Amino acid sequence: MSYTKEDIIRMVREEDIEFIRLQFTDIFGQLKNVAITASQIEKAVNNQIMFDGSSIEGFVRIDESDQYLYPDLDSFTIFPWRPQHGKVARLICDVYNPDGTPFVGDPRGVLKRVLQKARDMGYDAFNVGPEAEFFLFQTDDEGKPTVKTNDEAGYFDLGPLDHGEGTRREICMALEQMGFEIEASHHEVAQGQHEIDFKYAGALHTADNIMTFKLAVKTLAQKNGLHATFMPKPIFGINGSGMHTNMSLFKDGKNVFYDPNGEKGLSKEAYSFIAGLLAHVKGMAAVTNPLVNSYKRLVPGYEAPCYLAWSASNRSALIRIPAARGQSTRVELRSPDPSCNPYLELAVCLAAGLDGIEKGMVPPAEVTENIFVMDEATRKANGIDSLPGSLEEALVALKADQLILDTLGEHIAQNYIAGKEKEWDEYRTRVSSWEREKYIINY
Ligand code: ADP
Ligand code: GLU
Ligand code: MG
Ligand code: MG
Repeated sequence: MSYTKEDIIRMVREEDIEFIRLQFTDIFGQLKNVAITASQIEKAVNNQIMFDGSSIEGFVRIDESDQYLYPDLDSFTIFPWRPQHGKVARLICDVYNPDGTPFVGDPRGVLKRVLQKARDMGYDAFNVGPEAEFFLFQTDDEGKPTVKTNDEAGYFDLGPLDHGEGTRREICMALEQMGFEIEASHHEVAQGQHEIDFKYAGALHTADNIMTFKLAVKTLAQKNGLHATFMPKPIFGINGSGMHTNMSLFKDGKNVFYDPNGEKGLSKEAYSFIAGLLAHVKGMAAVTNPLVNSYKRLVPGYEAPCYLAWSASNRSALIRIPAARGQSTRVELRSPDPSCNPYLELAVCLAAGLDGIEKGMVPPAEVTENIFVMDEATRKANGIDSLPGSLEEALVALKADQLILDTLGEHIAQNYIAGKEKEWDEYRTRVSSWEREKYIINY
């Protein structure tokens, strides 16, 4: 959709909208908003709504706290799950300084900067389709989440085994009302685990969509008495939740990853993009897999990657090239999980791929065997490196990757690393129930 200020003002009046939520995302991927009433809409579309950024994680210091919200008019949509008299609409915003310059701590601004770089290199679109998986858990008498899954179904199962289908149906219908094109909705491998796929779009739109998707899933699960979580590995011993990220670059409306004469139907640019991802994926991990818990998903045996390899089909590889060619030719990065900040995630993915293209990088040979069953010596002999094994290792790798640091910009890099180091330290010093069970009797 392409809206003018006048369109927004008219829709607010004609659609009986009472509240407009002005949304943005903090550096750790939390959605934030300030609600204004319909009477303030003119002020909002003229970029005059101010807020105090000092209380937002990773934003600004107390002595320079005033910031402005500049709504992206095209993001206007109505929440179907809120009352339909005196409706609630939302606008996704960019964050600006009082002097009219973009705020360097705004993750959406980070993605916009890398997209501009892609345009400068001649790529007019970076298309992205995410596959965000999630769990639905039962809640207890106080409405708090439990780890009891709401069904015992498995991959592609359907009702009556799949108790999530009613909730998934409501999520899909709400998202369609909000302009999403839903491509697939299914039960995932683990009990209580689900996936809903929506059509790819330009990266900025997709990052906005991921934020909206998570909000819709959580809200509608709650309406059904369930708790939805995008935590990457809620339960030990079964599959975790990934957010496989399908990516392609377009030039003049054509997918540049496709070359009918290239090896496997892929262009030189596609191979260099893959090589760039492989070169930076360790430095990107603290962004694509931001939680202590993220690294409990990235272990062998659960369809989540742990080794640095690419393959045309092999789902144990970090990067897979789905069979589709032509306009659907795409690179699927399988490491990201849905707890990441999608703006920063897509920014670092694009920056890494573009670096590969700029430097003419060439990826190592494709790995066709199941890497999970290879022993360490075979992996070493094949030059197959591993993803960071913990948030701590990921932060070390991030600090060593200048391209990723530059992509985030000094402000976000510093605040992000400081916040995540604190998180790691909190975890490192806690005594877990596993430790007590293991040691309290024997020692
Ligand atoms: P999988 O085979 O891994 O299960 P899915 O079919 O579930 O993959 O997901 C495919 C995703 O890829 C969808 O979001 C789809 O819109 C997206 N996609 C399709 N073509 C492209 C493209 N050219 N660029 C980026 N994403 C694409
Ligand atoms: N849940 C798996 C993961 O953590 C992916 C399963 C799939 O291939 O869809 O990445
Ligand atoms: Mg899946
Ligand atoms: Mg996939």
